[in-house]
Amino acid sequence: MYEMWAEHDPAQSPSAVVWHVVAKDDATASLCGRFLEPSRRVVPAGDGAGAEVPDRYCDPCLLTVREAIAVTGR
Ligand SMILES: [Zn+2]
Repeated sequence: MYEMWAEHDPAQSPSAVVWHVVAKDDATASLCGRFLEPSRRVVPAGDGAGAEVPDRYCDPCLLTVREAIAVTGR
């Protein structure tokens, strides 16, 4: 099982939110090997008001998920 993890990417200017993928059984690092800081986690507002911050998905994380899905056939 995987979980999505959003955090501010300090390398992005202006600041952007990057979505990483985290395995549920190892939530200390994302699939791309990034150490995850709970203090940096971004929880989307969910009311549509936070749309001023662009978000994007972490390519290495998505690739790993895609490969894992291909291996298990699901
Ligand atoms: Zn990632």
